[in-house]
Amino acid sequence: MYPTAAKVMMNDVPFWKLKSLDELTPGEWESLCDGCGLCCLNKLEDWDTGDVVFTSVACRLLDGSTCRCSDYPNRQKTVPDCIQLTPQEVREIHWLPPTCGYRLVRDGEDLYWWHPLVSGDPETVHQAGISARGRTVSEKDVDVEDFEDYVVDWPLKVGGER
Ligand code: SF4
Ligand code: SF4
Repeated sequence: MYPTAAKVMMNDVPFWKLKSLDELTPGEWESLCDGCGLCCLNKLEDWDTGDVVFTSVACRLLDGSTCRCSDYPNRQKTVPDCIQLTPQEVREIHWLPPTCGYRLVRDGEDLYWWHPLVSGDPETVHQAGISARGRTVSEKDVDVEDFEDYVVDWPLKVGGER
């Protein structure tokens, strides 16, 4: 259940504009995730330059229609390298998509209209075309040697206004 915009306001200023990542409560932290699923896509890194590109090949646990992890509580048994985002991780990871709520707050930027905290509706991230919904293949169905055939740029696109 996503909190509505009204419930997360303090003195008419939403918490993500008032607090740093380190100051968020656990509930506020969780609610910053917009449910886009983009961080669950496999990425390829150029060993020489460090540049990272996204692919449309999703983690084996990502549900491609809901963009949610299908076994979140136990995910590290299946996917040991799944990253548990923390404020420190968000500061250090340079490949978070430009629409990611954690990256936006890290960079002192506002959330977009389609973020569930702003819209009050978890569907708007999908309706705005931001999420990975319906655009992925599972890594269970693609050889790792073929991942480079699935490089995509749509996870880096930002649509709409704030
Ligand atoms: S990219 Fe950011 S907002 Fe999107 S699912 Fe991952 S953590 Fe959540
Ligand atoms: S284990 Fe779950 S949360 Fe982690 S990358 Fe895979 S789908 Fe995403």
